[in-house]
Amino acid sequence: MCDKTFILTDKVEFVPDEEMEKELWFNINASAFVYNKTLEYSIYRENLVKEFAIGNKFKVNRTYTQKIVKTLKKHYPFLEDADSTCLQASTDRLIKAYEGYYDHRTGAPRFKKRKKNPVTSITLRNNFYDTKEGNVGAIRWLSENELRVTKLGKITVKHRRHIKGKIKEATLKYENGRWYVCIVYELDENRHGEFSYGGLYVGIDVGITDFLTFSNGKVIAKPDLKKINGRIQYYQQKLDGKKEGGSNWKKTLKKLHKWIRKKNNVVNDYYHKISYNIVKHCQFIAMETLNIRGMIKGNLSRSIHEIGWGKLIEMIKYKAELYGREFVQIDRWFPSSKKCHVCGEINHDLGREEREWECPHCHAVHQRDVNAAKNILDEGLRATGSMVLCLVDFMPNSQGKSIYYYEWKCFDEKIGMA
Ligand SMILES: [Zn+2]
Repeated sequence: MCDKTFILTDKVEFVPDEEMEKELWFNINASAFVYNKTLEYSIYRENLVKEFAIGNKFKVNRTYTQKIVKTLKKHYPFLEDADSTCLQASTDRLIKAYEGYYDHRTGAPRFKKRKKNPVTSITLRNNFYDTKEGNVGAIRWLSENELRVTKLGKITVKHRRHIKGKIKEATLKYENGRWYVCIVYELDENRHGEFSYGGLYVGIDVGITDFLTFSNGKVIAKPDLKKINGRIQYYQQKLDGKKEGGSNWKKTLKKLHKWIRKKNNVVNDYYHKISYNIVKHCQFIAMETLNIRGMIKGNLSRSIHEIGWGKLIEMIKYKAELYGREFVQIDRWFPSSKKCHVCGEINHDLGREEREWECPHCHAVHQRDVNAAKNILDEGLRATGSMVLCLVDFMPNSQGKSIYYYEWKCFDEKIGMA
């Protein structure tokens, strides 16, 4: 049997006192400083190698950033007062940015600027050490609403939690005028029994470029009908050139019908397969209510006809009922694409063709369909008034170990999603 790991992310609001807030901003600014300085040195070294052929070609990795942080601490003694795990998390983010750059997935890493690209969070890693009580983590719950966070001290969160998983890290962030802590837990298999993991909680966005996009980023392609459509078009044209009712006309019509039947079969099979798989893996499914009639009138008509989303949605719906899953369709007018999933702002300037966009308000970068799918999931949960621990994704890691990702989706009228 393969090993399993369960990862749970929980986000909850807290109100720091003046002293604590000062401390938080000090650490946030220190980690932004370290990020920028490390980036500056890396660019400097790259240029030495590139332009003057001095030194060896190098890659930004852990060993390299650790060396730089050590040197920085010597030159800028104030860094000694910052939490060292948050400085490391900050340079780890730079390593991630460089990895994307090396793989040509993203552009070169950019400097964090106060105005355009500000840092408003720190991530603290949990270190464990031995005390009289045994092995305890630097980040740990003192009571159901008091969390101890390393050097920073104690924070009191707004909602009580009693999750017994091992805390891996905590991100403290300032978002739209409020402070939140996001805690990442690892649950062992026995503990996991305390939660139900009947299946994933997903929002699904339907689109023309990517047929179905899930809130966890997975994509399902549309059926490949190129060849069949070509045959249908061919016999259609042939039929038009024949005398109606003649024997050749009848023969061609028979062939045309055969290909149309074939197309229906392929599409049906594909839809049954997809809908079965979705319902099998998902406990909660949220989708949009499509205004198919309105869409057919517009210029999208051909693709909509071909894809036949309506039929697929119906299949998911009845299968969900059959297998005891929850299926929700959200309001047709809900602005799933234009809403920023992170801060909730509506981006009215978002064009139809923009596949990736940056939120003008909070600067989060979104992949269009994934952002929409996440909004659909949240809206679906809100509409049903659910307050649940959701399994949002699972995948095997490189050692073949399954990792399950949970998020606490909890709705509070005043603070939105926490
Ligand atoms: Zn935003």
